[in-house]
Amino acid sequence: MTIDYTGLYINGDWTPSSGSNVIDVISPTTEQQIGSVPEATQSDVDDAVEAARAAFDGPDGWGSWAPSRRAEVLGRFADELESRAEETSSRVSSQNGMPIQLARQFEGGFPPVLLRYFGDMAAKQEDEIRPGMLGGSTLVTRSPIGVVGAITPWNVPQAITFLKLAPALAAGCTVVLKPSPETVLDAFLMAEAAIAAGMPAGVLNIVPGGRELGAYLVSHPGIDKVSFTGSTAAGKSIARTCGEMLRPVTLELGGKSAAVVLDDADLAANIESFFAATLLNNGQICWLGTRVLAPRSRYAETVDTITDLAKGLKIGDPLSDDTQIGPLVSSRQRDRVEGYIEKGKGDGGRITTGGARPGSMDTGWFVEPTVFADVQTGHTIAQEEIFGPVLAVIPYDDEAEAVKIANHSDYGLGGSIWTADPDRGAQFARRIASGTVGINGYVNDPTAPFGGIKNSGIGRELGPEGLASYQQLKSIYLDVR
Ligand code: NAD
Repeated sequence: MTIDYTGLYINGDWTPSSGSNVIDVISPTTEQQIGSVPEATQSDVDDAVEAARAAFDGPDGWGSWAPSRRAEVLGRFADELESRAEETSSRVSSQNGMPIQLARQFEGGFPPVLLRYFGDMAAKQEDEIRPGMLGGSTLVTRSPIGVVGAITPWNVPQAITFLKLAPALAAGCTVVLKPSPETVLDAFLMAEAAIAAGMPAGVLNIVPGGRELGAYLVSHPGIDKVSFTGSTAAGKSIARTCGEMLRPVTLELGGKSAAVVLDDADLAANIESFFAATLLNNGQICWLGTRVLAPRSRYAETVDTITDLAKGLKIGDPLSDDTQIGPLVSSRQRDRVEGYIEKGKGDGGRITTGGARPGSMDTGWFVEPTVFADVQTGHTIAQEEIFGPVLAVIPYDDEAEAVKIANHSDYGLGGSIWTADPDRGAQFARRIASGTVGINGYVNDPTAPFGGIKNSGIGRELGPEGLASYQQLKSIYLDVR
């Protein structure tokens, strides 16, 4: 049985699309169709933006509500999502190949947490009176930016959506969301939860479509801010449009982070955390440390440990509880990953495990977890984002060289340091050019700002900084004479 929708979630209810195109969703495991949704047109985007605008600043608009009143709605939204968490997780796994255990954590579990966290944070915020230097004082207020255009990728669709939705809605913004065509069924389930929660009409609208529709939304005159997660190429194009329009934009883009193994590390003892920091979600996460830097003094041993890890991973149906590596999202993505594997070989990398499609799978866009040894920092697979289960292990002589190699990248998003001495790890992390770094693991905590530098993006999500990015500051100078 396939999951098929006939309407779009615009202005609080299911509305027919003004066009007749349909987005078919194909399972990367079975290669069969598993559902469909109507594709939104530009005219649907116009309607969605108009609805979001009316919901924002109409009479009793969402933007003028007390934050605590908004938090109540977000709390109900969280409850409704929670009651659908298992269905959300399985829809995501079925669409993009994410192993179900991970989907339960990220996709089913994270969104309600974020809604409650940001709802509560906004409800507790107060205007500030700041004593001045010139005799008076200043009232500093925060108000919502307005209508947000949010564009999301397919790899972690629900968690990434809520990195945007939760702070935007809590701040008082209304949202037009364009999900990725590969993962739309979870977004439509989210719309069901919003309706059940009594979300006021127009506060959230969903317009599924491809990149042209995304570009149309980015440049729409009714949008006040754009929040984008996706590839660096698309991010640059969006930044150009927003620059021309002086439109605020948050960009969470690609990565090629370093996992630096220091000479005192016991990698084998931390192997589960190392897997999570380097190969999670079939290698399809932006912050993964896919360049592993290993000390030359312990190079062979480190390569062996990582090879054993990759060899032992259970490849299979992402809906099975014990699967650790599922298929890649599409045949196009598999072609891309296989292209990088060929490039890695051509550049002189030595494959220690993987490098092919698993023989055991008849259907599905699978690639074996693959480890390359003898990689140099100039090799393509050490510089470009592969977005698949492929690790490149690069040797270094001393700490200074490790820092140099780690920072020899156009990206700067994640990273990790592996060491027996956490203080040493934290000191080393300060020298890494990246927005986030983990010590002996990598977990994005909701309270900590997350985002990248260089080609990995502009701006931060999560933490108080994530909420601030959907707010305007206003200074009202008091007692001025
Ligand atoms: P993508 O850039 O092709 O697409 C992402 C989304 O943007 C999709 O909804 C797509 O339809 C839309 N889009 C594409 N081009 C657009 C344009 N010019 N204007 C407006 N919208 C456009 O990326 P993808 O292949 O779906 O996702 C993988 C990429 O996302 C990887 O590079 C990954 O590193 C990155 N990513 C980054 C983060 C982060 O937080 N930094 C998180 C997840 C994924």
